[in-house]
This record gives sequence, C-alpha cells and structure tokens, in this order.
Amino acid sequence: MSEKPGAGLRFAIVGAGMAGILAAIKLKQRGEAFTVFEKTDRIGGTWRENRYPGLTCDVPAHAYTYSFEPYPEWQAYYATGPEIQTYFEMVVDKYGVRPAIRFGAEVSGIDWDDGQAEWTVTLATGERAVFDVVICASGVLHHPRMPEIPGLDSFAGPAFHTARWDDAAPIDGANVGLIGCGSTGVQIVTAIAARVNSLVHFQRSPQWIMPVPYFTYSEEERAAFRADPALIDAIRFSDEYIGNVRRFTDAITDIDGPQMKMIEDYCLQNLENSVRDPVLREKLRPNYRAACKRLIYSWSYYDAVQNPAVSVETGRIAAVEPGGVRMADGTFHPLDTLVLATGFQADRFIRPAGVTGAGGLTLDAFWARRPTAHYAITLPGFPNFFMLNGPTGPVGNFSLIDIAERQWDYIDQLVDVLRRGEGRAVAPTVAAHADYEERRIAAAKTTIFGSGCTSWYLDAEGVPASWPWSYDAFDDAMRQPKFEEYAVLA
Ligand code: NAP
Repeated sequence: MSEKPGAGLRFAIVGAGMAGILAAIKLKQRGEAFTVFEKTDRIGGTWRENRYPGLTCDVPAHAYTYSFEPYPEWQAYYATGPEIQTYFEMVVDKYGVRPAIRFGAEVSGIDWDDGQAEWTVTLATGERAVFDVVICASGVLHHPRMPEIPGLDSFAGPAFHTARWDDAAPIDGANVGLIGCGSTGVQIVTAIAARVNSLVHFQRSPQWIMPVPYFTYSEEERAAFRADPALIDAIRFSDEYIGNVRRFTDAITDIDGPQMKMIEDYCLQNLENSVRDPVLREKLRPNYRAACKRLIYSWSYYDAVQNPAVSVETGRIAAVEPGGVRMADGTFHPLDTLVLATGFQADRFIRPAGVTGAGGLTLDAFWARRPTAHYAITLPGFPNFFMLNGPTGPVGNFSLIDIAERQWDYIDQLVDVLRRGEGRAVAPTVAAHADYEERRIAAAKTTIFGSGCTSWYLDAEGVPASWPWSYDAFDDAMRQPKFEEYAVLA
C-alpha cells in the first residue's frame, strides 16, 4: 500500500470508473502518490456493470469523453456501452494509471483519525492503509433497486435486474417480460423487440420521449476526426449538444418558460406523429410534466414498441408466478424470461462502506435525513474527503464526465491548501453547508423535479436531490471554491 512520500500527500481513490480514472490521471500528472481501490476485477464502473442489449449513452459520443482525450474512433453519434468501455480501457493504459489500481479491493471502512489528521482505509479483507486525502469516486447508480412484487422469487425462468444481465437467459424467439420504462427499459425494448417471440413491457408510468438524431460515422469521417481534432470539437461544443444542455437546464429551472414548452411540444408531436394506434398512443401519453423523470432520448423506441411482438401492459402487477406475471385483473402473461429494469437505489453512494469522520461522526448519521454534500463535493465533519458526482450534483441529460472534470478543478484548489502547507485538513463549515443546503432545497422545490411525479431524483421526503440551478451557475461554482466557507485544520 502507499507510503507517505516525504512531505507529499497520500491519496486514496475509491472506484475505478470514469471519475476515479479521472482523479488518477490528474494526480499522476502532478506526480502525486495515490492508490485506486476497485472492488471488481475491471475498470469502467457503470460501463463495466451494465451489459444489457441496447446499452447506449444518450450523450453524443464526442461529448462523452475526457476533454483532454478526444476519441476519433466512435462508430456513431451515440456510443454503445462496449465502445465506451473500450475507450476507458485505452485511456487507463495510455495515461499509465493501471498499475496504481488495486483490483478486487473492496473498501469496507474509511475512518478519520482526529489526532493524526489522516484517513484509514479498510478493505473487506481486513487490510488497512493510511492516507491524507480520500477521493470518493464510487458512482451514483450502482445498487440495483429490486421491485417488491409478491412471488418474484418463484419465477421458474431467469429473472434478473438489468445491471446483472444474464447472458444465458432466453431472448431470441422467447417470451420476455420487461418491468420498467426508464432510460434502461426503453433502450432494451428497442434492442430486443425484433428478436423475441413476444415482449410484454410492463409500464407503471408512461414516459416523455425526446426524438434525437442518430447516424453512424464512416471510416472516412473517422479518418477526418483523426486528422483534424477541430472536427471533434465542433461536435463537442455544438449547439446540438451544449446549446441543448443550456436549454435543458433553463427548462428544468423555469418550468413554465419557453424552453420547457418547446420540449413538451416536441415530445408530444413525436408521439402524435409516430404512434399510429390511438389506444397505444394514449397508453404512452405522459400524465405529468416533461423532464420530471429523466427525459428519455430515443430515435427508435416508438418504432420498436409498435412491433407486433411487443405489447404495453399498463395494468397493476399482482404477482409473479412460476410461469409468468399475473395482473390485478386476473390476466396472465406467460413468460420465459423476466427482466427488471426497475432502477437503482440512488441514495447509497459509497455505502455500504462505513465512513466515520471527525469526532466519530458517521456518514450514515450525517446523511440520516438525506445524502448531501457542499456543492456536491465536500462534507462538514469529513476533512480531506472529496466526492466526485456526489449528492446534489447535476444529474440530467448531460455528460457526467464533464461534470466530474469541473468538480476535479474545484477539489484540486482545495487540495492546494494542503499542498502549500497551510494546514493539514480542509472541510466546509457546518454553517456554510447549512446555508447551501437551505438555498438548494428552496430552489429544488421549484424545479421540474418537484412538479409531481415519482423518480429517483427525489429523496425520501420528496425533495429533489439534484443541482437546482442553471448549468452556468454550476460552471461558475466550480471555477473556484469559496474559501471562506472552509475551515482549515492547522
Ligand atoms: P429508472 O429511471 O429509475 O426507471 C425505473 C423504472 O422501473 C420506471 O419505469 C419505474 O416506474 C419502474 N418500476 C420501478 N419499480 C417498479 C415496480 N415495482 N413495478 C413496476 N414498475 C416499476 O431506472 P433506469 O431506467 O435504470 O435508469 C436509471 C438512470 O440511469 C437514468 O435515469 C439515467 O440517469 C441512467 N441511464 C442513463 C442512460 C443513458 O443513456 N445515459 C441509459 C440508461 C440509464 P415509475 O416511473 O412508475 O416509478
């Protein structure tokens, strides 16, 4: 494990997904000592974990890379999960950070020592190591949320969550049931509709579907991207992407404004123009405001759902039986395979690892009401503990890589305080964080997420858990921490 190099700082990074790799690269470039703890045997996080058919990132591929490592090789405007995994594998080797990753190293505890002003990281094996700084890059949506449906365990065929895809499960020519129609469920319908004998899509709530362009890149276009990175920038910074991000955040923060009207009109027009059967059209018509749940970007869902093999079941599920799903009205759907696209426990973050900060304050106690972090990054009482993509950060239809990079710039400036020897530890003050959280909650309630729908954006008390201000406000906040909001431990 890492030794303290002279006066240098020792960094622990938890997780080797997109954010952990970013932190590792940035620290390596500064010549700092770090260890990445990865619980599995591969890098990639979300893109390693999710392997369902149709897995695609709905952020344009050229905008879904690190800013310092553009990638001319994308096959299409939107990249598939396996392509993105290949990208991260390439980056990890190109930047030489793989040797610093400890695979199969699940972090079970992170404990602050007030006297020594350092963290002890404990692995599930009992092994321990000491660090000055912890970078928590363990992701947001990684603990599957299993539905509580009577009889689920009695299903005779394969029944599994989308993040635990069973490659042996019958899909081709089979009778498949799919519960859930978030971004994941919709992508699966589009990918398997033409492969199955029948697909019953169990839809508890209809979705807003935003039509988006899709096209592949030719070898000539990829050669052009290789020869001229400005062509990549033209996509990355295009109005199609950046303009949309701005319009989207304007819409979610000004729910009766023109941008939201444009989104709703565009999606409803898509429904009217694309779905021929009026009965199906009404089943698919959303009954709450657009973007209240995560807006679904799809170029092919309405085509797929009209495949004769697909039926949309909007009734209430009563139970799962060994041979299929029984509805409350008695209807029975016989199934070979049951796929659960039921989302994730969005309030877990680094848990179940136990984190104990200054004075014995545990993360569970600090988060008893809701997960929160100062500007989504730091926590009062948890010195030198920095989160990437932590609670209350922006989680919309934009690149989390971009978000993590901006967050890293903020973290780096706080770590500079330690690097300059101005103190041994830094954490936001209780008062500053309370003020942030009060302002955030007040603003969040007026965003679209608080407009009356169920979604993983809401916490247990129905408070939206995300960044409630504009993208530009996030950009501004990340440019420089307000140092007066931080306490430095001498
Ligand atoms: P999700 O958005 O949380 O959707 C879960 C779905 O399961 C909803 O349709 C929900 O219905 C339904 N559901 C949950 N429990 C149920 C039950 N007991 N009975 C019937 N239906 C039930 O989950 P997700 O689709 O996995 O997506 C999660 C997030 O992952 C997305 O919001 C997005 O942030 C990310 N994602 C991104 C991409 C991308 O392309 N960038 C792709 C996939 C996922 P209700 O709506 O009625 O609750």
